[in-house]
Amino acid sequence: MNVRAIRFLLLLSTLAISGAGALVSGALAQDKGTLHPKPLPLPPLANPDDPRLAAKQLFGRKMRPTGGPPYVIGFYARGCIAGAEALPVTGATWQVMRLSRNRNWAHPAMVALLERVSAKARREAGWPGLLIGDMAQPRGGPMLSGHASHQIGLDADVWLTPMPNRLLSRNEREEMSAVMMVRRDRLDIDPRAWTPSHLSVIRAAAREPSVERIFVNAAIKKALCREAKGDRRWLSKVRPMYGHDYHFHIRIKCPPGSPQCESQRPPQDKEGCSAHDLAYWFSDAVLHPRPPKVPPKPKPPITLSQLPADCRQVLAAPDARQ
Ligand SMILES: [Zn+2]
Repeated sequence: MNVRAIRFLLLLSTLAISGAGALVSGALAQDKGTLHPKPLPLPPLANPDDPRLAAKQLFGRKMRPTGGPPYVIGFYARGCIAGAEALPVTGATWQVMRLSRNRNWAHPAMVALLERVSAKARREAGWPGLLIGDMAQPRGGPMLSGHASHQIGLDADVWLTPMPNRLLSRNEREEMSAVMMVRRDRLDIDPRAWTPSHLSVIRAAAREPSVERIFVNAAIKKALCREAKGDRRWLSKVRPMYGHDYHFHIRIKCPPGSPQCESQRPPQDKEGCSAHDLAYWFSDAVLHPRPPKVPPKPKPPITLSQLPADCRQVLAAPDARQ
């Protein structure tokens, strides 16, 4: 065991003593949530120590984070987080959607970023605020539905629908749908839905220094490339991705204080706006994928042993105090 790991274990055991212990399919932005039946908390597992058990079954059952300082372990699509913080479900310039999923958890740096960007959405785009989709589970890790990433508290989905100028009810937050931004033929944005203010919101997020990448549908990237005026350096952070036609995805860099966080290569300095850059995304194979003759075997889910070793301690640590 290395020094870092030992220090981390000590950290968690201190928490225990002090009692301070807490890509993309399925749960899309437009998928409705539910009030009844209550999907969380889930019933206990019969064999929680079975090594073949999917890690999402364990992380999906944690309702509270661990206490103590925030500590990110692993990579965006394979890891977990200790000491996560909740984004309050209602703020001056944001409202969290799909509360039944309990996914409004993240590293405090992400919570602060969303508060900042939502204030900028009001100032710079004239939106009343932002509707916030999935962030991470209380202890991160793989999720029972949707999202390959969102595992270490450094990813967040933001709706491309402005927050209404009123408090949404719990029920509305489950039932309301986001607006589709992409035209039927998938080659461009839908001009009835897309406005210059959408560019302002995405730009406000991309200009934040801690933001590593922003994922949007290729049709949205194309529109941003066409419409961005003045300083266009922020465009290099905005990357085309499958889906992301109702929401965009903000990913931040590994924050200080988390040596076990694995960062991603920073994006190249270019805008990514040439026909060549976008060709793949508008190819026939991507726009109209033909179903394979033999359906591929579903990938086995990630088990606990496939996550960084210290994620076991994160699961075992006591809940943070309320
Ligand atoms: Zn996402």
